[in-house]
Amino acid sequence: MPAAAVQNILLAEPRGFCAGVDRAIEIVEKALTKFGAPIYVRHEIVHNTYVVDDLKAKGAIFIEELDDVPPGATLVFSAHGVSRAVQQEAERRGFQIFDATCPLVTKVHVEVAKLAKEGYEFIMIGHKGHPEVEGTMGQLDHGIHLVEEVEDVARVSPRQTERLAVVTQTTLSVDDAAHIAQAIKVRFPMVREPKHQDICYATQNRQDAVKLMSSQVDIVIVVGSPTSSNSNRLAEVARKLGTPGYMVDRAEDLQPQWFEGCSRVGLTAGASAPEILVRQVVERIKALGAVSVQTMPGQPETVKFPLPKGLRLDLDDEAAAPVARS
Ligand code: SF4
Repeated sequence: MPAAAVQNILLAEPRGFCAGVDRAIEIVEKALTKFGAPIYVRHEIVHNTYVVDDLKAKGAIFIEELDDVPPGATLVFSAHGVSRAVQQEAERRGFQIFDATCPLVTKVHVEVAKLAKEGYEFIMIGHKGHPEVEGTMGQLDHGIHLVEEVEDVARVSPRQTERLAVVTQTTLSVDDAAHIAQAIKVRFPMVREPKHQDICYATQNRQDAVKLMSSQVDIVIVVGSPTSSNSNRLAEVARKLGTPGYMVDRAEDLQPQWFEGCSRVGLTAGASAPEILVRQVVERIKALGAVSVQTMPGQPETVKFPLPKGLRLDLDDEAAAPVARS
């Protein structure tokens, strides 16, 4: 790379892996250790190329359709969750199932099922086609209406408006989701909002860190794969604050021209991007001339989710029992 004027790298805090991603990867690794390869994983366990390639090399096979899983196999559901139909079909086929759905996504599923029994219909704020949205909408046969932006709210046509609740994808832009939720509230004043917002702590903390960092840097680099919703939102947050924001899947993706005229570089990573990639990006930016690397103050994270039964070391004797849902 040609020399540029880069002087400092500011590392956002927190960045990178969240508790749900840590747990999902550990589930696949523990399953590989305990049962041996191959372990089948429905969809990318988390949306990160490096993580998926690493697990493939260790013996994981990623599939989209249950038809591609042989009888008797061990199957892991990805961190994004699955619909009831996929869960029931996997159980019917008799696979040994480990559910790596993030517990914060499962919490949304449980809320949807509970309110549906009370007669609620739902408006889901999320991105069409994202596996988490498919999994959450697939908790019911009907009665969940998807909105992706404020303009969609006018097109929602529920069968009734007395029992209407809002749920959201966990990895949205906090600010965009708040605007859409406000538009829903204006159109449906009786709408029930989540007690605690569905956007997760990790998404919130990483966006807050980028907001704090953006005014102090000339450019923000986000380590994350193109399919990662929360990584895309981090780059968007920077751009909305007027700071150029770029996503890279790996250090080689950095473009020298991005850094022209930039002396302070902000660096963060989406919740599915491993720290090793951040370190490689730091080295690559150092080659542009950066002499100092500082970590910004940020919200400490102590969240940790337990592994499913059958993969916990202290519950080894339960390993033979298939686990349907954690
Ligand atoms: S980003 Fe949030 S919802 Fe997604 S896996 Fe991490 S903690 Fe769970």
